[in-house]
Amino acid sequence: MLIVANWKAYVEDVSKAKKLLALSKRLVRSSSCTIVLAPPAPFLGALALTNKSSVAFAAQDVSATLGGATTGEATAPMYAAAGATYAIIGHSERRAAGDTDALITQKLLRTLAHGLTPILCIGEHERDTEGKYLNTVREEITIALSVLSPKERMKVIVAYEPLWAIGKTASEAIDQRDLGEMVLYIRKVLAELLPGKSSSHSLVLYGGSVEPGNIRALAGGSGVDGFLIGHASVDTHLFSSLVGELT
Ligand code: PEP
Repeated sequence: MLIVANWKAYVEDVSKAKKLLALSKRLVRSSSCTIVLAPPAPFLGALALTNKSSVAFAAQDVSATLGGATTGEATAPMYAAAGATYAIIGHSERRAAGDTDALITQKLLRTLAHGLTPILCIGEHERDTEGKYLNTVREEITIALSVLSPKERMKVIVAYEPLWAIGKTASEAIDQRDLGEMVLYIRKVLAELLPGKSSSHSLVLYGGSVEPGNIRALAGGSGVDGFLIGHASVDTHLFSSLVGELT
């Protein structure tokens, strides 16, 4: 299972960041999970460049610009130089802050051009009874992937993160049956967009209030390849418990 720990801006001091990295190293050794940490940008280089373990790193976002006179931007080549190998693109919190479909496609292209694996976040705001949320998911994947070459499309990891489930508790997250249906639907959409049978190798993650209390049920039988974890990834007790549930 692939576990992506999105620290968001929850971690504000280096000592906590180092503690979470040390814990992740132990968890990688004691479990069969692959752990990818997405620390705030100022911490990523310091943690990743000294990291000799099998913990991997992700940017929480990358600039859509090519660098240069763009104060405040952090570009894909900077993240790659700092030791990241993944990048989260199109997170709902970035979309809420102004990331349009056009910006997200630019970011995907920059990410891929510099050898980072994009983790593309998609998901509906709410569920309706007519199934319009399925169109939202289809559209977000299709718009994002349509600018990419067939080879590039194969590298994208899709993280299904329904907004109604983010930042809540395990009891308010999606259940296993609904997640299983959505994973199947996402794979169907990917099969239409990727060459041949290559979509069977695409990774599909779930994010939204994954905690120790629901991770095992969500992992079992839903067909998901891993999880994007927000608040529970910065709590040492919750994070070690939830990884422990998968081993
Ligand atoms: C997220 O925002 O990516 C996320 C999964 O958050 P949480 O786990 O806190 O719902």
